[in-house]
Order: sequence, then C-alpha cells, then structure tokens
Amino acid sequence: MSKIAVGSDVEAYCTKCRMVLAHAIIAMEGSKPRRVRCNTCNGEHNYRATKPVAKAASKKTTEKGAAKKTSTKKTRQSWEEVMQEASAKPHKKYSMSGSFGEGDWIEHAKFGLGCVQIFVAPNKITVRFADSTRMLVCNQS
Ligand SMILES: [Zn+2]
Repeated sequence: MSKIAVGSDVEAYCTKCRMVLAHAIIAMEGSKPRRVRCNTCNGEHNYRATKPVAKAASKKTTEKGAAKKTSTKKTRQSWEEVMQEASAKPHKKYSMSGSFGEGDWIEHAKFGLGCVQIFVAPNKITVRFADSTRMLVCNQS
C-alpha cells in the first residue's frame, strides 16, 4: 500500500455517485482519510472505504469478496442507502405533539432516523426505522 496524505488520491465510496470512485483526500485522521472530495461529482463527504453494509460484515472484507456478496442482502442494503441519503436531507425531530405526514423523515430520540409510512387519523403514524417498524403517536396537544 502506498502512503496516503492530504491531497493524494484514494478509492472511497461516494455517497452521491453511489459507487467506489477515486477521491482526493482533504483531511486526515491519524493514518486514515477523514474527509474526501469525489473526483467525479466534486462532492465533499466523510471518507468511506466501501459501500456501507450492515454491521457484522467487517471481519473479512476483501473488496472483491464484498462486491460479490451484495446480492443476498439487497433489500436491507437499499434501505441503508435510502437512510444514508435521507440523513443528509432535512428531517423533523419526532415528538408526540408534532404533526407528520406520509413520506416525512423523522428523527426519533431512541430509534434514530425513520420514514413515516402511514398516517392513521387522527393521531398515529407508522414509521419505518433501520431495524423495525413502529407505531408512534403524534398530534398530541
Ligand atoms: Zn461522487
């Protein structure tokens, strides 16, 4: 492996292009890239070596192996991607007094980021979180 430093090129996963592409390092953390700029879309983001996958996959991640394995967890992975994209967008903080509509992204103190699937009048919403779907109350005065 060649030495890496600010300014050098590195392969990283681009959150916008959704591919592993050449990036220029713009900040380092220890011996690892911290922030990178995509050479393709010029977007700046935190460094990610590979496509984000569900936890527990870090034991034996050769890049080729990881790429071949992706088909088995497709549903989960696309949701992770959706989550990642949504986390960059504005989203509402969840509270019982808030009002939310279908398709809204909310941030829950305990469960994290979720997407409102169904609004059940007058005061319930079904929200899909990373690992579960929950029913929450809203519109409480
Ligand atoms: Zn890009």
